[in-house]
Amino acid sequence: MASRTLNPAGPGPMGPGRPAWKGTPVDAIATISQRISEIHSLIGSVTPAATTTAAVASSTATAAGASSAVFADTLATATATADPLAAAAAQLNADGVPVTLAGYGNGLIPESALSTIDGSTERMWAPATEQLDALLADARADGITIGITDGYRDYDSQVSLAASKGLYSSGGLAAVPGTSQHGWGLAVDLGLDADALAWMRENAGSYGFVEAVAREPWHWEFQPAS
Ligand SMILES: [Zn+2]
Repeated sequence: MASRTLNPAGPGPMGPGRPAWKGTPVDAIATISQRISEIHSLIGSVTPAATTTAAVASSTATAAGASSAVFADTLATATATADPLAAAAAQLNADGVPVTLAGYGNGLIPESALSTIDGSTERMWAPATEQLDALLADARADGITIGITDGYRDYDSQVSLAASKGLYSSGGLAAVPGTSQHGWGLAVDLGLDADALAWMRENAGSYGFVEAVAREPWHWEFQPAS
């Protein structure tokens, strides 16, 4: 412990029995500078084990003292590395809409916020595309063929579709414009034969996709939180 004694000559200016300061301000600054030097030399003299403990303690203190936003960022990064589905789920608001897209509005998403599905010109919200690409590759490896019919649909397209196929609520096949999950880049219509549909029902959940609409076995939605 001798190496950890800052002032072997006895209690220093910061130790027990510290006398009231009687010098000039310049003397005080000199004393503080000396004290800082002593602390630096103490830090340099601690054993490796103590250094490790100090580093852990320092890291813990930093995490505890960081703002919750920074902590959430750190957590999100760690989560993304470990589980992209959980990371995608963390980006959804209470309505299941990506917080980065909600401000644009349903059917009004800019191209830059979407990404193209492998082997197709159709697009979805990027994290959905990433999972669908993985799903398609794994299905292919199992000898299953899945076609892509429709992904993101802009508002005007949904208006046209409602006119030609009728509203779902009236027995048709189109959502009310402004309400379709296609308008958020979260839905995809697939070309599925019986084997492919069975494969999807067995496996799609592992990629965050669910069969969400009765009477539409081709329509799958990205719901990573479910
Ligand atoms: Zn659909």
